[in-house]
Amino acid sequence: MEEKPGQYGSLGGLVAGVREAYESGRTKEVEWRQAQLRGLIRMVTEEEDAIFDALHEDLGKHRVESFRDEVGVLVKSLRNTLQNLKNWAAPEKAQVPLISFPCKALVVPEPVGVVLIFSCWNLPIGLALEPLSGALAAGNAVVLKPSELAPSTAAFLAANIPRYLDAKAVKIVQGGPEVGEELMEHRWDKILFTGNARVGRIIMTKAAKHLTPVALELGSKCPCIVDFLYSKRDCQVAVNRIIGAKWSTCAGQACIAIDYILVEERFAPILIELLKSTLKRFLTEPGFMARILNEKHFHRLRGLLEGHEVKSSIVHGGHADLKTLRIEPTILLNPPLDSDIMTEEIFGPLLPIITVKKTEDCIAFLKPKPKPLAIYAFTNDEKLKQRIVAETSSGSVTFNDAIVQYGLDSVPFGGIGQSGFGQYHGKYTFELFSHRKTVLRRSLLLEFMFRYPPWDEHKMRM
Ligand code: NAD
Repeated sequence: MEEKPGQYGSLGGLVAGVREAYESGRTKEVEWRQAQLRGLIRMVTEEEDAIFDALHEDLGKHRVESFRDEVGVLVKSLRNTLQNLKNWAAPEKAQVPLISFPCKALVVPEPVGVVLIFSCWNLPIGLALEPLSGALAAGNAVVLKPSELAPSTAAFLAANIPRYLDAKAVKIVQGGPEVGEELMEHRWDKILFTGNARVGRIIMTKAAKHLTPVALELGSKCPCIVDFLYSKRDCQVAVNRIIGAKWSTCAGQACIAIDYILVEERFAPILIELLKSTLKRFLTEPGFMARILNEKHFHRLRGLLEGHEVKSSIVHGGHADLKTLRIEPTILLNPPLDSDIMTEEIFGPLLPIITVKKTEDCIAFLKPKPKPLAIYAFTNDEKLKQRIVAETSSGSVTFNDAIVQYGLDSVPFGGIGQSGFGQYHGKYTFELFSHRKTVLRRSLLLEFMFRYPPWDEHKMRM
């Protein structure tokens, strides 16, 4: 059954109900946590077609893309969490110094309590259920507010989560910013927010009232350095992967999509030709690329192409159809660096290419910029790779591929600086929603009196 604000008289009643479920203690049991993970796996696999339909309605995503980016990655992650849960939840022994003898020290992961998750519309299944699964695995009760901008997916979650999970300890609350604001009036034990930095600031400010810790998964401009690659095959593989990470992932509406490319002047024409010919081979039907979310984002993206200098830098595409909300894959060569397309996150199918004299110049280009979620570089130059890792800062660095880091359970995912903070995925999601409680067990047997007054100097040296 869908929970609507007002069903309990107010959202306050709903939040109180979730806290009551947490206080019952059942969410802490490992069996309960396993049952929730199994429920999620069943939901995602049994309702796969309904998920594909919802994603198609909200974003025009092709089923294969939806399987790759949302269902497939998620099921793999859920199985990984289920398999490792007992290990992750087990207390860890810690070393203690001899002076504390006899003593045992344990670090015990305990759930933080009642968690609020705001998810975003571009990967509306993955960005909702990946954090939800980790929060449940860690033994918390959860309120999830899906983005109102992906309404079919939000309705799917509201209709199905109560059928597969503990409906008292997990609630889906649908609605827009006003519902988000109302939720923020309540006390939470942890908040994870995925979205833009403007709203992230509001969330953080409101969370401060209750000293609630927050994790913010925000956006940025993720650069991609393309080094001069000598073999034809390497160039082709690089271009395949660039297209995959730009146009074949929600039409570039992804936080870790390639935002722009940096490349040596002499290599730019070859790169552009290869991008064009490969796009032609890959995107043989309009339905093979997702559409733009809504008219607002369509106009925002069109706006990024406004202005004489930007328009004249378009070397491929540029056509946009408001009726279908589709924008052609568009490549720009050297738009002005102070234009909006080079200063704002693009989040769509537009790809500026900026040329540099030498590939190494890219590092100086990136250093003064805000720290992005990801930096990508296609290169076979080991020295350059080392310099990128050592001299730049970002949530992650991926060499010779892009976006695939999102699908790995074994590495943390998250931003740094203006791209956010708080990391998750795999064990890191479990940790994000756990408190590491130190438990010391001392014995009353031995007693050293130098710990206590009356003080005299030689007690310092004992
Ligand atoms: P958004 O920030 O507008 O919305 C996110 C959520 O916040 C929604 O649930 C919305 O209802 C809620 N919300 C909006 N205003 C609110 C308010 N005043 N108070 C409380 N809640 C409010 O989403 P958006 O800006 O369209 O998302 C795109 C941004 O998200 C991009 O910058 C993108 O890079 C970023 N993003 C980041 C990640 C990541 O993992 N780092 C993933 C996806 C998207």
